[in-house]
Order: sequence, then C-alpha cells, then structure tokens
Amino acid sequence: MSTTWSALADAALAGQQISRDAARAVLHAPEDDMLLLLDAAFRVRRAHWGRRVSLHVLDNAKQGACPEDCGFCSQSSKHASPGGEAPMKSVDELVAGARRAHASRAKRFCMVTATRGPSQRDLDTICAAATAIKAEMDIELCASLGLLTEAKAQRLAGAGVDRFNHNLETSERHYDQIVSTHTWADRVATVRLAKAAGMDTCVGGIVGLGESEEDLLDLAFALRDLDVDSVPVNFLDARPGTPLAGRPLVEPRDALRALCMFRFVHPRTDLRVAGGREITLRALQAFALYPANSIFTQGYLTTPGATPHADHQMIRDAGFELELASGEAVPADPEAMLALAPPATRRPSLPLAT
Ligand code: SF4
Repeated sequence: MSTTWSALADAALAGQQISRDAARAVLHAPEDDMLLLLDAAFRVRRAHWGRRVSLHVLDNAKQGACPEDCGFCSQSSKHASPGGEAPMKSVDELVAGARRAHASRAKRFCMVTATRGPSQRDLDTICAAATAIKAEMDIELCASLGLLTEAKAQRLAGAGVDRFNHNLETSERHYDQIVSTHTWADRVATVRLAKAAGMDTCVGGIVGLGESEEDLLDLAFALRDLDVDSVPVNFLDARPGTPLAGRPLVEPRDALRALCMFRFVHPRTDLRVAGGREITLRALQAFALYPANSIFTQGYLTTPGATPHADHQMIRDAGFELELASGEAVPADPEAMLALAPPATRRPSLPLAT
C-alpha cells in the first residue's frame, strides 16, 4: 500500500484534489501502513509548513450558562448537570491572558465566549481587548463568539481580530442529532459573514460524536468547499452531565488516520490537532505533528491539557520548531517554559486529568 499513500502525497503536492474514495481509504489504512501513511501526510504538511508548529492558546472569556444545547458541551445550560459558570472577563484579564500566551511563544490567542452570539456589551469587551493586545504584543488574535451578524463581524475585523472560529462540528446530516437550538446552515452563514468581513476563518469539528464515516468525510469536504483557512480537529472527551457522557474515546490510531485524511483533503490549510489530543492520542501525541502543523497549549475551554513546558518538550524531542506570529521559526524551549509556570499551576500532560 505504500505506493498508494505516496501517490496521494504526490497528487496533493501537484495540486490535485483528493477524491472521496481516496479519503475514505485513508480512514481504513492498515496497521502495518501507519508510518507510511504518516510519512505521506508529512510530505504534504512539510511542503507548506516545513517542520514548524504553531501554538494556540484558548481563553474562556465567558464560561457556561449558554442557551444552546450542543450535546457534547458542558457549558450548555440545557443539560442535566451543566458545568461551572463565570461572567465575562474584563479587558485587563483578557490582556493578561494574552501576555501569558505570548510568554509561552504562542502564535495565536483565541478569546471564546459561551453564547449563542455576542451581546453588544461582550463585543465591546472583546474589541477593546483586541485593540489593547494588538497595541502591546505581536500575537495573532482569534475570537469564537457564536453566531455573528454582518455588523458584528465587521466590528471584530476592525478591532484587529485576525481570525474567527466557528466549528461546523459534524456533517450537515448528523448535526440535528447533536444540536437542536440552531442549524448547521446557521453556522455556515456565520463562517461566510466572518470571511466577508475580511477575517480568516477557523472551522473544524469533533471526531467521536457518534457520526458515521460518511459524516466525517462530509465534514472534511464541506470545509474544503468553504475554503477555510484553519481546520481544528477535536476528539470527543465526553463530559459528565452532557447527552454524550459515556461515549468512548476515539482509538488513537484512528485519530491519526482522521488527521491524515484531513491533511490530504486540506493540503495547505493550518491543520490543528485540538481538544482531546492528550487523552485520545496518549503516547502517540507526537505523531500528530506529522499531519498537523499546530496545537493548543495550556488546556482547553473546560478541560485541562498539556502545559507549555510539556508541549515545548514534545516539539523539541520530535525535531520540530515553533512558528511565532512574526512568521519567524524558533527552537522550542521547555526550560524557559518551566521557569514561567509556578509549580502549583503545572499540570501533567499524560495522562490528562479531567
Ligand atoms: S458549543 Fe458553544 S454554542 Fe454550543 S453549548 Fe457549548 S458554548 Fe454554547
């Protein structure tokens, strides 16, 4: 089969779009082919991203009490046991979060609110924080605030938000099994508004929601049709109290197959191994750097993750380097990261505590 994977890489590098059948075959790559598959995906990744890895940091700017009912999310107020709730952070708190992200050599800082869409007040805070952060440090900014209107999208772009995140989560066909308070089409409309306002778009999904293989392929190809700039691929880490509680983790090698499939479908895209990385991939985490060129560090919205120290160490050990917001490539520096974090806040990267 090595010829097959290698031929897929050759085709992608020649600018040909992968067929659905070929993408499906990637999801079925035999165990004996895993290194060959990863090598082929890496050839495509390397052509566009070299050996660079960008770190992204999430800041849960407004946590919980969300009126939407996404079945995987512990921030929904609709679930039997919703998670914690915290009011909107202040501009100063968001700027402080961006400083921590910058110190960890993150390329991008993403402010996230648990909302159907941003209120004017929340938008004021996010825009003021964006302006202050941009004035102080070289870091790219992302926001993930739910559904947008044209005016809100334009305001965010004008305040210096470089990229807007709005995941499609799963296929259009599977979406109503996961969410009932808004539609997949609503999500696509917001992605289009963000793009029209001049922001980059970060749009991905979650593997492990009970979707079929065809649903996963639909998602990958729908994202290609939308021509998004960044694809975060999450793996379900089922939260207690949510409708999806108890769903099993994706098998780690299947997670790698999924990442390789996304890389072949999206040869040039900023492909991120996102939430659930640590608990799903466990000892195989570094292999994800072969198809993916970016990761989140400092944890996720409602679950902890690897520390910057652990992530810098992994990147250095695997022979990759960091990409900064300036575009400059620098060595990962785990020692410097250890000095950053007070011991009480350090968390082990493996296994993931929940
Ligand atoms: S995923 Fe977002 S929109 Fe859906 S319930 Fe969670 S916070 Fe709300």
